[in-house]
Amino acid sequence: MINASGFDVAVIGGGVIGTSIAYHAAKRGMSVGLFESGPLAGGASGASMGLRSIWVWSHLLPLESGLRNDQRFIDFVHETGEDIELDTTGRIIVANSEDDLGYMHDFVDRLQKRGIEIRLLDQAEIRDVEPNLSPRVIGAAWSPIGGNAMPIKLTYGLARAAKRLGASIFTHTPVTGVHVAGGRATGIQAGGRDYSAQWVVNAAGAWCASIGQMAGVEIPVVPRKGQIMLLNAPAGLVRHGIASLHKPGPQQTGGTNIRPTPHGQILCGGTSEYAGFDVTARSENIHDIARRCVDLVPALSNLSVLRSWAGVRPRTPDGEFIIGGSDRLDNFLVATGHDFVGVTHSLVTGELITELMLDGTTTTPIDGFRLNRFNGSVQSHG
Ligand SMILES: Cc1cc2nc3c(=O)[nH]c(=O)nc-3n(C[C@H](O)[C@H](O)[C@H](O)COP(=O)(O)OP(=O)(O)OC[C@H]3O[C@@H](n4cnc5c(N)ncnc54)[C@H](O)[C@@H]3O)c2cc1C
Repeated sequence: MINASGFDVAVIGGGVIGTSIAYHAAKRGMSVGLFESGPLAGGASGASMGLRSIWVWSHLLPLESGLRNDQRFIDFVHETGEDIELDTTGRIIVANSEDDLGYMHDFVDRLQKRGIEIRLLDQAEIRDVEPNLSPRVIGAAWSPIGGNAMPIKLTYGLARAAKRLGASIFTHTPVTGVHVAGGRATGIQAGGRDYSAQWVVNAAGAWCASIGQMAGVEIPVVPRKGQIMLLNAPAGLVRHGIASLHKPGPQQTGGTNIRPTPHGQILCGGTSEYAGFDVTARSENIHDIARRCVDLVPALSNLSVLRSWAGVRPRTPDGEFIIGGSDRLDNFLVATGHDFVGVTHSLVTGELITELMLDGTTTTPIDGFRLNRFNGSVQSHG
């Protein structure tokens, strides 16, 4: 399938989504050029906490697909030998209010009826599973499904694996134009050179709208800022990824999250802010994250802060992904809108985009992710 003057597919963006597309497309024999304006994982993917969760999968993606995510990560590590600090020790969700607790009971009940291993914990069990959770946590549920992965290692691992399969990875090579002729995208301009491509995939995260403009395609994605911090921690203080539960909906935020790293540290997050492309970590937000996390795990209050940072997540008006072509150019595909669950859904997104290119259809239904759902009806974010 090698195209002498370019690539079968030009992928724009070197975050977890773009590198996953490059990997999956190369794995199925396509010639791939991936173009990233800065270093790999320089956007949201490098700022991410790396929690992999079934609790907050896209509400349009069938549950079964969310559940297969664990296996996808395990398979990736087995197939490529890449170390992505994969942790499959499961997840805890906690309820902070009576309202959240009611929702959690319904949520657990619904999942159990579908045969999913998840259960509510009583107070003694909470202490057993996560001894340092605050006695003020009014309810918690536990599932062995999910865990963590280190997002920077995941991005680099995907890019390395794609490269071994023949993909060309161009970093520090900004895409400055998308060529269009006869109702199709015919290639891109990047780093001052032109490349032809049968498919152009826009995986530029929070920057997708500007790439869309180059192709005359409106993409209603804005940056949603997230801040997190890293603490120095004694081993075992926190054993699992812990997340506060939130009802789904357009206003949904990433909530409060805590996770241990394999290096004796703990990540605490986060925030959800509309602040343009500003990625400064601000003391008032870091203070707020610390307060929320200490509410969940009081022992965190004595730890030293090693570092804090911020990134911008790609957010659509309805909070759902955009995966697929546009009405204007059906070979100009868009893969974005992953907001606070992009690491979790990175591998499935690469699979789906590759299926669209090679099979013309997907094994998982993605009708709800069409870009044209926004035609003439873009609501405000927030
Ligand atoms: C603080 C924080 C915590 C998070 N925690 C979690 C979590 O625990 N679990 C989870 O699943 N998700 C989490 N996320 C969300 C997740 O990180 C994102 O959804 C995901 O990284 C999006 O990946 P992406 O590849 O679409 O975007 P990005 O990683 O932003 O990649 C897009 C890339 O496109 C590049 N680009 C832009 N313009 C151009 C151009 N003109 N030419 C070439 N390249 C260009 C950018 O430089 C960038 O590298 C978190 C995000 C943040 C910010």
